[in-house]
Amino acid sequence: MEVCGGQTHSIVKFGVDELLPRDVTLVHGPGCPVCVTPLELIEKAIEIASRPDVIFCSFGDMLRVPGDKKDLLSVKAEGGDVRIVYSPLDAVAIARRHPDRQVVFFAVGFETTAPANAMAVYQADAQCVENFSMLVSHVLVPPAMEAILSSPVSRVQGFLAAGHVCTVMGYTEYEPIALKYRVPIVVTGFEPLDLLQGVYLCVKQLEEGRAEVENQYARAVQRDGNSRAQDLVREVFRVTARKWRGVGEIPQSGLALRERFARFDAETRFDVTGMAAEEPPECISGLILQGLKKPHECPAFGGRCTPERPLGATMVSSEGACAAYYRYRRIHTSEVVHGR
Ligand code: SF4
Repeated sequence: MEVCGGQTHSIVKFGVDELLPRDVTLVHGPGCPVCVTPLELIEKAIEIASRPDVIFCSFGDMLRVPGDKKDLLSVKAEGGDVRIVYSPLDAVAIARRHPDRQVVFFAVGFETTAPANAMAVYQADAQCVENFSMLVSHVLVPPAMEAILSSPVSRVQGFLAAGHVCTVMGYTEYEPIALKYRVPIVVTGFEPLDLLQGVYLCVKQLEEGRAEVENQYARAVQRDGNSRAQDLVREVFRVTARKWRGVGEIPQSGLALRERFARFDAETRFDVTGMAAEEPPECISGLILQGLKKPHECPAFGGRCTPERPLGATMVSSEGACAAYYRYRRIHTSEVVHGR
């Protein structure tokens, strides 16, 4: 299983899986931040962004994720002040420029984006920017890998861990997982050659009966990661249970603001903590995110669900497995031809 949606995208785009022997099957993991953000968080974002006193800031990829009835782009079309930013610090700067408005940043992502988001809250606190807040939906990779491996239906025999996550976090957290579940874990980059080498190292370990953490992405990743970034994340966030879209709640798998920074929590500031939402019943993205199904096995794929009219998040995000299969027409690939 490649963990990261960026790796999935590369694999499908360059046909890396089609170069592999038939005995090696790549399954696509839960590492697309847009895909695993729970539907109720999207609903909360839409509710907050619809308020006239709010400037709602987000990375562009969250704007088209469908909520129950609409998406953030529709809120913008209806007159809501929804803005695309390229850094959470841009949202803090907007808050400073508009002291009469509430400015909310939608903080979605894995360990990769956590340091910048932590920095935004830290700066808002230091500069007393009290009209800034953050809608937090941060998730962590190692607990998700453990949840997948603990499932009785898991087919995963090895992982390509996400290189950029490990650039921040290092890979010591993966060592007990490899040991406990007897799975090779190879920290892997995103270019086609990185992925092929990651698969090679993983299969080599399996053939030699080893289950270790190896670092294919040594040009960017060190074992202990970026300790200054980790310290900042720990200062601003605490580890908590988080719901993953399509997967459910995983203990200790997410980040929430610490008590000291709780006043920057948009959920409490706008009183949306209790909101809930139901997934479209025909969407099987949960099974895809756990590696149990491939996108083209969904009955809605390419018909009722397309990137223009997505039913589920894995069709919205450019890193989502369904979008990657649709874009590169993988409905006619080896999975069908070889009956994998
Ligand atoms: S094709 Fe659409 S409906 Fe089917 S799993 Fe993917 S996102 Fe969900």
